[in-house]
Amino acid sequence: MPESADSSNLMEALVSLAKRRGFIYQSSEIYGGLNGFFDYGPLGVELKRNIRDCWWRDMVQRREDIVGIETSIIMHPKVWEASGHVAGFSDPLVDCKVSKQRYRADQLFFAAVVVDGKTAGYVSALESERTGAELQEAAETFKRKKSLQGALEPVKVREFTEATEAEIPLVPSPATGEPGSLTAPRAFNMMFQTNVGAMSDASSVAYLRPETAQGMFVDFKNVVDTTRVKLPFGIAQVGKSFRNEITPRNFIFRSREFEQMEMEYFIHEDADWAKAHEEWIVWCENWLKSIGLPESHLSRYAHPKEKLAFYSRGTVDIMFKYPFGVQELWGIAARGNYDLTQHANASGKPQEMFDEATKKKFVPHVIEPAVGTDRIFLAVLTAAYAVEDVKDEKGNVEQRTVLRLSPRIAPVKVAILPLLKNKEQLTNRARALFEKLKRNYAVQYDDGGAIGKRYRRQDEAGTPWCVTIDFDTIEKPGDTFTLRERDSMAQKRITEAELFALLAEHVY
Ligand code: ATP
Repeated sequence: MPESADSSNLMEALVSLAKRRGFIYQSSEIYGGLNGFFDYGPLGVELKRNIRDCWWRDMVQRREDIVGIETSIIMHPKVWEASGHVAGFSDPLVDCKVSKQRYRADQLFFAAVVVDGKTAGYVSALESERTGAELQEAAETFKRKKSLQGALEPVKVREFTEATEAEIPLVPSPATGEPGSLTAPRAFNMMFQTNVGAMSDASSVAYLRPETAQGMFVDFKNVVDTTRVKLPFGIAQVGKSFRNEITPRNFIFRSREFEQMEMEYFIHEDADWAKAHEEWIVWCENWLKSIGLPESHLSRYAHPKEKLAFYSRGTVDIMFKYPFGVQELWGIAARGNYDLTQHANASGKPQEMFDEATKKKFVPHVIEPAVGTDRIFLAVLTAAYAVEDVKDEKGNVEQRTVLRLSPRIAPVKVAILPLLKNKEQLTNRARALFEKLKRNYAVQYDDGGAIGKRYRRQDEAGTPWCVTIDFDTIEKPGDTFTLRERDSMAQKRITEAELFALLAEHVY
């Protein structure tokens, strides 16, 4: 079992809410869906756009040292040769010849069942929070089923990539539970191929980009030559990336078409890269908190030196506690000057800057914070989702589902609710407020149903505030409305000017 009952319930609840309220649908659902592809519905597209826009404003528009670009998804195939993706952008693939299931060898684990010092067989399990425990249980079951006498040693968990040629046929397939059907791991390149132009031969092969980053490296000289950037400076981009993942899973966490928000921060070759790296990790953590992710769900994972690519100086991932476990959300890599050097060598065009102080040319180094918008989306939903007991107007206890989204990213900022829909004085005032607010904010006008029902609808959509235009609005002096706050459900009276001030403070 990959996760505890509670966490799998949470995942189910999120997927169901996402569908029910129009955040996320399966792609091509009427045809049975396509594994690893998703559509964003009316609320989802607003939430995703807000995440992206907040990132762009904070990362690009509000900084003097970072510029944005947008490069094409299909680039010259030589880009991907130079970057190393053609030769090396692969995951180790394992087939089960009987079930036709495919696994990533680095997500498939096995252990020898050792009884009285002798290997009696093997057990296997897929990557999860409980891999070790599952393998231990499987080993105990194995021993019992085979009626083996003697002492069972605690299992030693190993990745299938480490299995020897002799061991591979002895490891059971997770699909069938029987050994003999797993193939040796082989490299599976994750880039989607296509052909450009009318000819479909080797000369027309191109790739859908598996990351947006190469766009920044390939356009580095263009940006340096056409803007007034001075080191240190960054180039940022947001856009779709494509990876033919062997095992897309966990909803939108790992999909085959996804969006990335990446930034390449160029620094002098002699600059203190470790300091710049740390500063960017902190920046990313703070940014995630600014859109409402709680610190308690965030952690860091520093990649061990021996697992880094040869050119990499260090990579730290910001991890998030998803319902299915703690997983990578945002990778911040110190990549040296590998990428620019590769492109300089492959294109024959130097990718250098001139140092006025030393009068020498050099290739800048780079720090790369790279994050997936969809992964942030799922993190945001995970952290925001709550079901709680509340009392209705009559004092009866009922359940409400609420998305405690930050006002920065909430799809709807304010819902305007006239108390009654057939009372013109109320609806006229509500309409006037709605018209004024919608010039600056995403607001919704809702006059359907009892007021309590309308509040619940907005709670589920994550709307931070509801404004009710009631009889006090039109009968009492002051032109005030009832402001109802989503999280506390507290209500107070507020003027139009105060409402605008509240929005200006929280929606930025
Ligand atoms: P993973 O190890 O999870 O496959 P990665 O280390 O290959 O990810 P990077 O190449 O560093 O990922 O990509 C940067 C970011 O892009 C990741 O931190 C993640 O947020 C996002 N990302 C990568 N692959 C996917 C995917 N298949 N679906 C959704 N988001 C992704």
